[in-house]
Amino acid sequence: MKESLMEIPCKNNHYFQNWSQTYSCKPELYFEPRCTDDLRVILLEAKQLKKKVKVVGGGLSPSDIACTNHFMISMKLFNKILEIDKTNCVITVESGVTIYQLNNHVLPSNGLALSNMGSVSGQCVGGIIGTGTHGTGGNFGSFASCVLEVTFMISDGSIIKCSKEKNGELFQAVCCHLGLLGIILVVKIQCEPAFKLHLKQASGLLEDNLVDLKSLISQSQHFRFFWFPHTGSSESVRRSDRVFTFDCLFKQYVTEWAIPQQNTVTVLRKMREWIIANSHVKVHFPVEVRFVKQDGIMLAPSGDEDVTYIGIISFRPYGKIVPHDEWWNFFENLATEYGGKPHWAKAHKVKADDFRRMYPKFDRFMEIRRQLDPTCMFWNDYWRRVMGKDGFHMVAPEKQRL
Ligand SMILES: Cc1cc2nc3c(=O)[nH]c(=O)nc-3n(C[C@H](O)[C@H](O)[C@H](O)COP(=O)(O)OP(=O)(O)OC[C@H]3O[C@@H](n4cnc5c(N)ncnc54)[C@H](O)[C@@H]3O)c2cc1C
Repeated sequence: MKESLMEIPCKNNHYFQNWSQTYSCKPELYFEPRCTDDLRVILLEAKQLKKKVKVVGGGLSPSDIACTNHFMISMKLFNKILEIDKTNCVITVESGVTIYQLNNHVLPSNGLALSNMGSVSGQCVGGIIGTGTHGTGGNFGSFASCVLEVTFMISDGSIIKCSKEKNGELFQAVCCHLGLLGIILVVKIQCEPAFKLHLKQASGLLEDNLVDLKSLISQSQHFRFFWFPHTGSSESVRRSDRVFTFDCLFKQYVTEWAIPQQNTVTVLRKMREWIIANSHVKVHFPVEVRFVKQDGIMLAPSGDEDVTYIGIISFRPYGKIVPHDEWWNFFENLATEYGGKPHWAKAHKVKADDFRRMYPKFDRFMEIRRQLDPTCMFWNDYWRRVMGKDGFHMVAPEKQRL
């Protein structure tokens, strides 16, 4: 068993950049550990040296939520499939396994498929349950609603396993862990028998969708729409994962908010009015609109109610800085006015007090976090910005033992 940091291969000149190339950092030390002993040594030494630790998955988060200038741990070597239970359609995988790996090398050959997923597949399992990642479908919660059990290492190096049945409150917290509770090691996921999806794509007027929105959401399993003009119609049947994912094309700024589903029509109409009234602003498209069912996960935007995710983008040709503030500010203010919550992974300016208003259990989550990680080892600039200087010392009004 390794006992010191010197025995674990690491780099001191690693440059990390997120997929969108909007944030980067130069961690003091970058590790690609192979086993839980390595992880434990890193955490214990980090504690002694008073270093922060950030785990990175696929690096897809458009914000700086995975950045750090202290110790960065990549879970790319934690990429084993531990168990495939074909009878119950349950897989147990290490947290560095990517959705791509599952879709292409694991699930089809075992007659299985994930029930739902986001629009891309480069995320790791540990990362996808880190930010409330979601697909679309009126009867589907965020991705983590398919998670049955999570095993993770907390800041003192001990390992905790939780599920709905065992340590249920902690499980609800860890299903949208925000990189704050520990290092996700193993995740058990409920899959289903492989299926095909009948993909129907049609162009139409935004207003037609809005008028008929409720029935459109309930008529298809995975209704979503992209708001942009001049598309032709098409229809095809393809393997499920190939329908869920698509090519997001170019580097882009992105923000996405979950608003209560009953406010969808009003918000989209107001966005359209604003675009028409502000023709000097070059709004890029598509605007992606997706639907997620209430899933009870403590800090998932879909935790307490059915939500509609509205995502706006601004492409960055040749990596250039493209002005987008005016559109962004309008959209974020509008989403806030109509009860919206930002996607945890995407750029936002929301601070702790607002999150407290948005999430009744925000302080409880932070109290759980404090108990699991009293020295704020998993903190980074993203969290300093959100929590403000008091974040380190924040204690919820009511203390409960885990
Ligand atoms: C082109 C594109 C398309 C996208 N489409 C969607 C979409 O359709 N729906 C959606 O909801 N989101 C979408 N996203 C956002 C993406 O799903 C989330 O950012 C997701 O969290 C990324 O997973 P990752 O493995 O890259 O995690 P990272 O970005 O690497 O990390 C995310 C968070 O998880 C933590 N983390 C990662 N692994 C672990 C671990 N093993 N243990 C502890 N903490 C860990 C990190 O510290 C960080 O806090 C998209 C992003 C891009 C760039």
